[in-house]
Amino acid sequence: MNQPRALYIHVPFCAHRCGYCDFTIVAGRDHLADRYLEALKFEIDRALPPPEKIDVDTVFFGGGTPTQLSARQLEQLCSLVHERFKLSANAEFSVEANPAGLTGDRINVLADAGVNRLSLGVQSFDDTTLTTLERDHRRADVFDCVDRLKTRVENISLDLIFAVPGQSLPLWETTLNTAIGLTPTHLSTYGLTFEKGTAFWTRREKGELPQTTDELEREMYALAMQQLEASHFQQYEISSFARPGFRCRHNQVYWSGQSYYGFGPGAASLIDGERRLNHRSVTTWLKRSLAGEPTVAETEKLDPESRARELLVLSLRTNDGVSKTAFHAISGFDLNDLSGIPINRLVAQGLLKDSDGTVRLTYDGRFLADTVAGELL
Ligand code: SF4
Repeated sequence: MNQPRALYIHVPFCAHRCGYCDFTIVAGRDHLADRYLEALKFEIDRALPPPEKIDVDTVFFGGGTPTQLSARQLEQLCSLVHERFKLSANAEFSVEANPAGLTGDRINVLADAGVNRLSLGVQSFDDTTLTTLERDHRRADVFDCVDRLKTRVENISLDLIFAVPGQSLPLWETTLNTAIGLTPTHLSTYGLTFEKGTAFWTRREKGELPQTTDELEREMYALAMQQLEASHFQQYEISSFARPGFRCRHNQVYWSGQSYYGFGPGAASLIDGERRLNHRSVTTWLKRSLAGEPTVAETEKLDPESRARELLVLSLRTNDGVSKTAFHAISGFDLNDLSGIPINRLVAQGLLKDSDGTVRLTYDGRFLADTVAGELL
């Protein structure tokens, strides 16, 4: 069995639900957190019975808002990880956090437990944009928070959102420059999406929330690539930019088709070619785990060809692209035999480049990555 070396833990708590969010979360239900921690221990112990410790190279607490947990609860969560997993000497230990509520005691607990990478959900430095996004922090909170963080953690990533209703190109440029001025090691930029079932979707349908035009969204993405490259951030994935040596190793596990453990509500695992998806309802997941019942809602064993196609699409998200030799070694498929026809078509359309034994998105292809993926799956 191909034993995963990456661990994801989903922490589903948030102070409130932002209007665009369709993640697995519960808002304003922090009273469930102690039971969540108990259920998480049950789930891990059932999947990976103690006392054996599992070796991992990357750990990622995502959410939700992991730092919605109290300092005591964060300490408990980190202890659980260290009890059940052996982190390699240079392991990457990442935690997602929101500027609101990232107090000094929480930062100290995380840093003392070996957390060495913080991914901060900044989204914008403009208070009007933050209000539109229904975020619960303001511009000033970000600066305070980054100052506090820098005393304990060197590797700080900032998440930013563009194409927010009402956000102009100059405003986005100011946001990018302000983020660069904070000297993070990593930046992620995401175009706002309207997901069915969210409050934003409903408001857009009612005409209350104007969606940014495709043209402006494209200009914003182009500006991000230009500004960040000019500031010595290297783009290594469609949404990810890093200073040299600071690419997110955990996310690279996903993009290179390697296996990973996932625990918590809605978390996914990929183990030995089988994808397992946990119950998305936090209360269902919690009750099932505490009752000793399976927490996995769906399993899917991908056939070798589907796995190869998925590997192709995931790897194409990265600027390194897909090496035909490596692709053959990992998947057992010859890339030309598997997808030569659509690849040639996409090359002719200027969306892919096929040279030196590697297939990559072109600059134009990065704007249409979903379309490219659709053609190759
Ligand atoms: S803070 Fe993040 S996870 Fe929580 S509701 Fe807002 S967007 Fe969703």
